[in-house]
Amino acid sequence: MTSADPSDEREANPMRDFPGVYVNGRWAPSQGDRLVVTSPATLEPVGSVTLATPADVDAAVAAARAAMASDAWAAMSSVDRGALLGRVADALEKRSVEFGDLVSAEMGSPRKWASFGQVGTALGVLRTYEKLAAEYEFEDTRRSAMGGEVVVRQLPVGVIGAILPWNAPLFTAALKIAPALVAGCTMVLKPSPEAPLGIALLTEVLEEAGLPPGVVNIVVGEAATGEALVAHAGVDKISFTGSTAAGKRIGAVCAADVRRCSLELGGKSAAIVLEDIELDRATVTGLVAGVMANNGQVCVAQTRILVPGSRYDEIVGALAEAADRLVVGDPCDPATQVGPVISAGARDRIDAHVRAAVEGGARIVTQVGDTPGPGWYVRPTVLADVDNDMPIARQELFGPVAVAIRYHDVDEAVALANDSDYGLAAAVWSADRDHAFDVASRLRVGSVAVNSSAPLDFGSPFGGFKQSGTGREGGPEAIAAFLEPQTIIR
Ligand code: NAD
Repeated sequence: MTSADPSDEREANPMRDFPGVYVNGRWAPSQGDRLVVTSPATLEPVGSVTLATPADVDAAVAAARAAMASDAWAAMSSVDRGALLGRVADALEKRSVEFGDLVSAEMGSPRKWASFGQVGTALGVLRTYEKLAAEYEFEDTRRSAMGGEVVVRQLPVGVIGAILPWNAPLFTAALKIAPALVAGCTMVLKPSPEAPLGIALLTEVLEEAGLPPGVVNIVVGEAATGEALVAHAGVDKISFTGSTAAGKRIGAVCAADVRRCSLELGGKSAAIVLEDIELDRATVTGLVAGVMANNGQVCVAQTRILVPGSRYDEIVGALAEAADRLVVGDPCDPATQVGPVISAGARDRIDAHVRAAVEGGARIVTQVGDTPGPGWYVRPTVLADVDNDMPIARQELFGPVAVAIRYHDVDEAVALANDSDYGLAAAVWSADRDHAFDVASRLRVGSVAVNSSAPLDFGSPFGGFKQSGTGREGGPEAIAAFLEPQTIIR
């Protein structure tokens, strides 16, 4: 996979304006208000979109329903749908610097990280499903348990309402678009109003790849637009990625109509550092990156670092040294490792959490750099002496703050990691990979990385236990999530 090279001189980033709503393969006029998207680093406008009206949502759903029945889509084989995804990936790859820069500009992801974290991940997902489309079994014949023969067919669920967060718009969109299209579904995508521009630009690569009109439609809007989609009688399934609070509401609305629903929600993941860890630079940098990547705004961020009491000061000191090396600044500077958080509200909430933790007995080991104005910067922070019961260890912060929690033996480390309302991800770090695997197997979370801060594999299921969600994205499991099995006994 090739990703954007952020070492290039930044291209001039002109305002990207997308007037109207994307329905039936074109930007259609809308009566909606214009939304100007501003950079969280500079607070300058970077583009604009139109906020969809209820009538636009109806039109987008109608277009997706019509596309479900169209020859151009319904008659396309799964192999051809996979090839189509391959062409989308080719078109995206050619413009990966442009896409990375646009997402970086709208939501503040450091350009250097965005090349893989925002664009390379989306490419990886598209390529994975290009391949899986050719391998997936959509029909099988089996012997009936009562004698005779049964045909089990896998039919597309139908029209998908796909609701996206702002922190990884292209990646989270690809995780829905690719398996849904392999399954033969059509969709209405609702990007977040904080980061709609990269998704709007995606229409150009979908068209270049030859996607039939109406298969993917886009309505930008606030929560109310998402709610209209969630309650829409023409939508067969909601595929949501976002906060646990919104996910609970969406799940309740879907349940009322027995609408299918998958929820990819928040996390408060742990990194368990085992006693035998060798504190080489790659390990310590990896632990810190597990918290600070994307300015701390990653659903799988391993913000609770569980540290053995026997080596507490040494390990916390090493974490602080690695944090001190972070370059905080303008996300468009290729040297920047940590940029701003998404909004003033997020900055204030994170700062308040840190203050409350210190009042509750936590100790600031380091707070890196300055807060280069005028954007919404939070100083990357490492806190020691944090108790797992403190709010800072229980609530998702979504900012560059690591907390070091002391444990005495491995059983306690496992218990602390599992003592959370969330269950999205974790990491286990050890000199002994087999031991780390055994510890990983005891965690009640959807994915665990050994000696890495990236608990994600595009070809394997990803999702949450407990309040981190229901359902899975990634791998063939995600294709199954967009299918309804039908049994014909003949
Ligand atoms: P959010 O819940 O505020 O919003 C997500 C999306 O849902 C937005 O498009 C928003 O407009 C829409 N929305 C909000 N309320 C809604 C409602 N009642 N009905 C319908 N739509 C509604 O989340 P966010 O701030 O955009 O994203 C950050 C959150 O997303 C974090 O909690 C993060 O952990 C989570 N996230 C999870 C994953 C995952 O795969 N588990 C991936 C990325 C982000």
